[in-house]
Amino acid sequence: MAEKFDVVVIGSGPGGYSAAIRCAQKGAATAIIEKSDMGGTCLNCGCIPSKALLGSAHFLTLAKYSNLMGVVIDGNISPNWSKMQARKEAIVAGFRKGVTSLVQANKIKIFQGTGIAKSANKVEIISDSAAVEIETKSIILATGSQPMEIPAFPFDGETIISSKETLALEEVPKSMVIIGGGVIGCEMACVYATVGAKVTIVEALESILPNEDPWVGKMITREFKKLGIETLAGQKVTGVEVAGGIGKVSLDNGQTIDAEKVLVAVGRKAACDKETVDSLGLKTKGSVIEVNEKMETNVRNVYAIGDVVGTTYLAHGAFSEAEVAAVNATGGDEAMGDYSLIPRAVYTFPEVASIGKNETRCAKEGIETVVGKAMFKSNGRSVAHNESAGEVRVIRNKADDKIMGVTMVGATVTEMLAAARALIGTTEKITDICFAHPTVSEVLKEAWEDAFGISIHVPPRP
Ligand code: NAD
Repeated sequence: MAEKFDVVVIGSGPGGYSAAIRCAQKGAATAIIEKSDMGGTCLNCGCIPSKALLGSAHFLTLAKYSNLMGVVIDGNISPNWSKMQARKEAIVAGFRKGVTSLVQANKIKIFQGTGIAKSANKVEIISDSAAVEIETKSIILATGSQPMEIPAFPFDGETIISSKETLALEEVPKSMVIIGGGVIGCEMACVYATVGAKVTIVEALESILPNEDPWVGKMITREFKKLGIETLAGQKVTGVEVAGGIGKVSLDNGQTIDAEKVLVAVGRKAACDKETVDSLGLKTKGSVIEVNEKMETNVRNVYAIGDVVGTTYLAHGAFSEAEVAAVNATGGDEAMGDYSLIPRAVYTFPEVASIGKNETRCAKEGIETVVGKAMFKSNGRSVAHNESAGEVRVIRNKADDKIMGVTMVGATVTEMLAAARALIGTTEKITDICFAHPTVSEVLKEAWEDAFGISIHVPPRP
């Protein structure tokens, strides 16, 4: 007889495992199916390994300023790439173990294999050893995404590679061309430029990080130059020829660049087994599964969350959607809120963080704004730490004084996103809040005050 569950979750990434745990906490008999490693892309070949390598690379950038900071380090300061890789592996393995035991501690049954939904109530799990069928009242699809490839020069896993291989290179290449100056491209550029590769980013649009306001791309391009990263924006790659382990990258302006590795980072596409889509009759748009604000698909009792629904392609976006799907799959009634309130964080040197509507979006929507600005170079703690590049901008709606958005570039701005979130949609007087001094986050306060023309440390505007 088939084993019976209340909820079956397919995929164990941030969306899948958090949905499963929330369902179990609500008393549902829950199963989770994973065909690869527990933790999904984020833990195994995305957020966590990239942050581990960025952590090592950041440490190296700091060590290089030891002389300026008055610290004597005898001998060479140089990267040990294999140790960096081993450290990354150990971090990932530790968290993988942690996620697995967390899921087990919540009495969730883990099935190893490929989960295929046969109907809204039947899921087949196919593994090397067997195929089993289980029954369920609800299904949550959390099957993630895959790197997008460019058909004219598909991944070969050796020279033309995706972020997955890039995170696990055995040696630092002498040169790397990164196609796509988005989040992955910019983060990987920081890692590899810091450990000694000659990195060139080719971005098709006007600027790198084109989803942010233009000043962000300009500032990051300038900071990247200091790291030795070359940025070619507004350029299209027309082809990549591989010969003798070297990729010859051709651009539409006739330029060619040789590189040992060519990272293609032009986005990710949703990934769901065709069989599941067909047997359930799921409504899709391209590779993405269509859902409503309750994370319901067009099939009753089947939910979808995370990258497979193509909304944010962010782990924390998946966490939020998982919460909603889990509540609804266990008898509740919840809906996703405003997606612009899902924070955006890029872990470059310096970091980029934004939330709410940016200046570009406000302008598109015809919202008249006043933009408050403050710089890290005027902040005591940032200067003391020798990390004073960057700026914070707070966007105020001129009509009702409400804060529409915050965009920040600076050393630790991703950690300031929760504070920025608290401001969005409010007219709250930040001057009433006492910020510890000296802290990096005082720049947020200064920018807020500047949006109202009352900053103490930003000079009055002409
Ligand atoms: P992305 O959408 O962030 O950036 C892709 C970039 O490639 C864009 O700037 C686009 O203009 C450019 N591009 C597209 N086709 C091109 C071409 N032919 N030539 C040159 N440039 C081209 O995608 P990504 O960087 O691959 O990341 C994938 C997803 O993973 C994103 O949605 C991202 O948000 C997510 N991610 C997030 C984080 C984070 O939050 N820190 C980290 C890594 C990945």
